[in-house]
Amino acid sequence: MVMKVKNQSIWLDGYDYNDYVSLDKDITCDILIIGGGITGLSTLYNLRKSNLNVVLVEANLVGSGVSGYTTGKINFLQELIYSDILKQSNYEKAKLYYDSQKYAIKKIVDIINKEKILCDLEKTDSFVFANEEKEIEKIKKEKELLTSFGERVEEYNRDLLYVQNKYAIKVSDTYVFHPLKYLLALKKIIRKFNKPIYEKTKVNNIIKNGEYYNLQTDKYVIKAKKIVLACHYPFFLFPYFLPIKTNIEKSYIIASLAKNAHKTYITSNKPTTSIRYHKDYLIYLSNSHNISNKIDEKENYEEVIKKANNLNLKVKYIWKNDDLITLDKIPYIGYVKKNDKTLLIGTGYNTWGMTNGSLAGFILSDLIMGNTSKYASLTDPLRVIHIKNTLPKIMNIFYNSKGFLKSKIKKNKDWYQNVKIKNINGKSVAIYKDNDKEYKVYNTCPHMGCSLIFNAVDKTWDCPCHASRFSLSGKVIKGPSTKDITYNEKNLF
Ligand SMILES: Cc1cc2nc3c(=O)[nH]c(=O)nc-3n(C[C@H](O)[C@H](O)[C@H](O)COP(=O)(O)OP(=O)(O)OC[C@H]3O[C@@H](n4cnc5c(N)ncnc54)[C@H](O)[C@@H]3O)c2cc1C
Repeated sequence: MVMKVKNQSIWLDGYDYNDYVSLDKDITCDILIIGGGITGLSTLYNLRKSNLNVVLVEANLVGSGVSGYTTGKINFLQELIYSDILKQSNYEKAKLYYDSQKYAIKKIVDIINKEKILCDLEKTDSFVFANEEKEIEKIKKEKELLTSFGERVEEYNRDLLYVQNKYAIKVSDTYVFHPLKYLLALKKIIRKFNKPIYEKTKVNNIIKNGEYYNLQTDKYVIKAKKIVLACHYPFFLFPYFLPIKTNIEKSYIIASLAKNAHKTYITSNKPTTSIRYHKDYLIYLSNSHNISNKIDEKENYEEVIKKANNLNLKVKYIWKNDDLITLDKIPYIGYVKKNDKTLLIGTGYNTWGMTNGSLAGFILSDLIMGNTSKYASLTDPLRVIHIKNTLPKIMNIFYNSKGFLKSKIKKNKDWYQNVKIKNINGKSVAIYKDNDKEYKVYNTCPHMGCSLIFNAVDKTWDCPCHASRFSLSGKVIKGPSTKDITYNEKNLF
């Protein structure tokens, strides 16, 4: 029986919600970093000693975005990533990506040791395992590839707890940590260097005006010469039309009391099962799918809990997370526009953002400081994606259209007893009744016009296309949308 399950990320339990400063005046800076997740904080950490006037703004609180909901593995064994890159590109790229992940891991560990950060860092062995016969050959190829890069890889044919292992490979020198403790420690260190971090400060739009960008927050204006988009999913469409270059993968995670086996493992294929331990908890990720599929949150939660019950796991925490998957499985880190060194981005980490978000911190700060970066060409957002990648491109368009259409078809359906959709003055309005209180919101996502789905678990309105989320009363709680959907009689939306 499931008792006292917290619908919350284990990392955010106990978070000090009062230790922040918000922007309280108009400001001008050299570099504005938008987003206080691992990308934004890693970039700011690397720029902390520079003479540049660098500012970071975060719409909510540091680490409260995707980075606060990860499984927190610091790992280069990422399903069958090297075989995937080899298939989509070539051997050199697969090797360079491997080098970049090893580099990022070394750097994260160096920072943790040098700064004496207490973030439950633990070295573990890691496994990729097959739960189907047809995966075995693929894992063997990944082993060959990793061995050719110089990595020591062992075959592992014994049992792995909580999963069916038909064949696995094992590597060492991988880590797990508490991602939020790490990010909050970076914030504390950065504070000593006069590089302000303004939380609860959301950027609503960006306009280029001569040498400066003018950025409008809810109350103030920021003028910045350069912008780093570290906001996971940029809230504007142009100039970098991300929806056709990525799709969004969503997964569910539970934490359950268990004896720590000091190992991490992950399936070679989708849907992903991923396991790590944190102190006395087993952290178990499952039910991964494209965000436009399986849009009924209540059904998804029930499925995850049922799976946990079948494994005799006593669930203490349950949460979900989503990340951007790129066309060639390599992140987008670098300049957004050709011949323009003022707009930079770090995103598209294919669910491996602890290494790639940190890598982005190095690449972006190197680009800003005019240093050469060994990995900048690999992750260049403007790289030509080879013709072999046509299928992922088509699949992206398919998934995005599917989410959009599905949301439109569902538009007039009452999903749940308490939700009614009405057309008021030509606008689709959703009305939710919770006991005595009635909530009215516009039922269309301001980002790209998808109809919103009522999430009966969290009591939020969720976009099934690009993952924006809104509170019952219509306040935006997660981008890419920056606008609220609160209904207003004057129809000002
Ligand atoms: C289920 C799951 C498990 C994962 N597990 C792992 C793992 O074990 N290891 C690993 O390496 N990776 C993992 N990842 C991937 C990793 O969590 C992400 O890639 C990474 O956290 C992304 O970091 P980020 O800084 O880009 O985004 P975020 O952490 O989301 O940071 C972006 C920030 O920008 C802010 N923001 C957005 N818009 C605005 C605005 N307009 N104004 C101001 N601020 C704004 C947001 O509030 C947010 O805090 C996992 C992903 C998923 C989905």
